[in-house]
Amino acid sequence: MIKAVRGTRDLLPPETALWNFVESAVRDVFRAYNFQEIRTPIFESTELFARGVGEETDIVSKEMYTWEDRGRSGARGPDSLLEERREELETWAQDLPVQPLLRGQERPRPLVPRPPSRAQSLTLRPEATAGIVRAYIEHKLGDRGLNKLYCMGPMFRRERPQKGRYRQFYQIDAEIIGPASAGSESPARDAEVLEMLATLLDRLGIVGWNLELNSVGCPRDRAAFNEALRKALEPVVDKMCVDCRRRAVTNPLRVFDCKVPEDQPIIETLPRISQFLDEGCRKHFEAVKEILRAVGVGFRENDRLVRGLDYYTRTAFEFTHGALGAQNAILGGGRYDGLSEALGGPPAPGIGFAIGEDRLVMSLEDTAESVLKKPDVYVAPLGVGMNAEAARLARQLRRQNLIVDLGDESFRLKKSFEAASKAGAKYILIVGENEAKASAFALKNLVTGEQVSVPRAELAEKIRGLGQSR
Ligand code: AMP
Repeated sequence: MIKAVRGTRDLLPPETALWNFVESAVRDVFRAYNFQEIRTPIFESTELFARGVGEETDIVSKEMYTWEDRGRSGARGPDSLLEERREELETWAQDLPVQPLLRGQERPRPLVPRPPSRAQSLTLRPEATAGIVRAYIEHKLGDRGLNKLYCMGPMFRRERPQKGRYRQFYQIDAEIIGPASAGSESPARDAEVLEMLATLLDRLGIVGWNLELNSVGCPRDRAAFNEALRKALEPVVDKMCVDCRRRAVTNPLRVFDCKVPEDQPIIETLPRISQFLDEGCRKHFEAVKEILRAVGVGFRENDRLVRGLDYYTRTAFEFTHGALGAQNAILGGGRYDGLSEALGGPPAPGIGFAIGEDRLVMSLEDTAESVLKKPDVYVAPLGVGMNAEAARLARQLRRQNLIVDLGDESFRLKKSFEAASKAGAKYILIVGENEAKASAFALKNLVTGEQVSVPRAELAEKIRGLGQSR
């Protein structure tokens, strides 16, 4: 049996209803804050992530799905036209009757010589921000002023699979980005994003979430902090895990990502970024907190929370949920005022976040019952020739926004009842010859057992529970 690849999974009904519930709540909430959807490709050039996420991160150094792609370059030069012709001819040649004659040879010789390979390194996206910022630069979205963008979709990281951690997982991502003159640098934007997230989690009925908040300062603050960290790590790093020993040399800030329990007491003694913030960063952080207090969004300051790349600046945050266990972060985000420039674009301060949709759905499981919609009615044709009449009725009811499941005339009454119960329908509607002639149908409530005869025109109303019983 061929199975789904390790770290990937099928999302099956009825759970997919929860995913749809989340996505439609996201669209509703984000719309209220004037966010608009952007859809970027699932693969990009590897260089984008190397520069946009950072070579030193676990994501780029160990987790990306990267391959050399033989594909043509985007430009349609003579080489690419030649390559196109060659592929057309090869496809065509495969259908020729002479093909069997080629058997035994390793491969038919190409009909047109191959142009020199223009391999390109491509990567399945491990996160969405880099792609969005690339699109922002490529399409000069800064000309529009402030951009509020969101997207949803699969991301790919070669991590060790476990509960809540997959190799194909889904993120809901949003970014506010634009020229500083459009207000993209303002702490009001940070607070707006955080308040929107709190609203979303509340709307989804997620109780007990925590907002962890920090400021990682600006590159200058971090240079001083990194220096202090390096010094503090020197005498203790030998007692730490291999990853930390590497991080201490390459990017000491990342030591704070360490989850190894034995390292935690050492990490507790290290200096914190909060001691190194300059005046501007301190003020920005204070302003974000002040707005959050004013709008009544609770938070906890966590000066261990860092996003360690040079272009990450100021606000960094995570929302966690206790019920999720070890993988307790539902979402993470922060400011990246230098990212556009790091990717060769214009200055474009921004702030964004990525929600792990798999984990969001996991923390929703309690509300599952109320979200999963069962059929309102199961329409059961009774007797040969009744499928058409049943289809007519089902069509009428579906057009009145009811959820309708439809049986088959070959089913005996008992089998129709069993199918209706299995589908979880509230009512069963019997469509026999006599009912069709009278244009009134037997409607049985499968919960109470009550059965009534209802004229065709009143069916939808009755099924919705608003009609009078006869
Ligand atoms: P990050 O881009 O690493 O900040 O991740 C943002 C969010 O995506 C995290 O808070 C998780 O909820 C989710 N996430 C990250 N990696 C995975 C994964 N491998 N499987 C499932 N969810 C993930």
